[in-house]
Amino acid sequence: MLSYRHAFHAGNHADVLKHFILVQLLQYLGQKDKPFWYVDTHAGAGCYQLDTGYAAKNAEYLGGIDRLWQRNDLPEAIQEYVEVVRTFNPDGKLRFYPGSPMCALNVMRSTDKLRLFELHSTDSGLLAENMRPAGRQVGLQAADGFAGLKAVLPPPPRRGLILIDPPYEDKRDYQRVVAAMQESLQRFATGTYAIWYPLLQRHEAMQLPEKLHGVPCKSWLNVSLTVRRPSSDGFGMHGSGMYLFNPPWRLPELLKEVMPWLTAALAEDDGASYRLDFQMD
Ligand code: SAM
Repeated sequence: MLSYRHAFHAGNHADVLKHFILVQLLQYLGQKDKPFWYVDTHAGAGCYQLDTGYAAKNAEYLGGIDRLWQRNDLPEAIQEYVEVVRTFNPDGKLRFYPGSPMCALNVMRSTDKLRLFELHSTDSGLLAENMRPAGRQVGLQAADGFAGLKAVLPPPPRRGLILIDPPYEDKRDYQRVVAAMQESLQRFATGTYAIWYPLLQRHEAMQLPEKLHGVPCKSWLNVSLTVRRPSSDGFGMHGSGMYLFNPPWRLPELLKEVMPWLTAALAEDDGASYRLDFQMD
């Protein structure tokens, strides 16, 4: 029984970090003529309405995309991401937020392909509806993304980006992402992989970057954004991170420029900070 619904969190600070990096990764891949595949193991519903329903309940987007919406001093990479969100809000009022598959589709070329997995029956139905206009460019399965990943690697063009973005409500997700990476790099060693993870005061969450670091790969990057001091009761998410395998070589320099700005823009108190570690082969 899946209880997590991404609509509650759509457009929050974690989505901003994840989707701004996602847009950059896809743009890098699109610079070469050869097509590529984008695989999203935990795709969500694809698009979320912010001013009604689940998303309006806690209005987490107010601490995320909404803080960037009216600013006219966006760094170029943030601007490129906000432009993607703007295409879903053509009248200028922020009402819709694109999830990872819709952000991706917006940036990708018609020759590139998407392979999406979403296990929740309601969200996979919404996703199918949202992706319908893209036709055969998109393959969608209402199935376990960890299991499905094995079948799509390596992608036929031997070029690809894999986003692994589980809810982590089930603590086995922490082990599954590490196991998935160990296996996936054996199947498709040259792929770019992006794993989103939460910053929580929970043992498994704190250990995850170190566990991913133990997966052998010469090029990796770990970036995290803390938006507030961890709470005294030990609950709640105070930030998030992205751990990348085989990141594009220009990404570290880009993040060095953008992360200080983004940290200031999304800070909720004086505990806000970012961290960037990488090794490029
Ligand atoms: N990637 C989406 C985005 O950035 O817009 C958000 C995904 S959300 C964090 C995680 C999603 O994974 C939820 O929609 C949940 O229903 C789905 N899910 C949970 N376990 C899954 C599994 N084993 N395989 C595929 N999807 C799963």
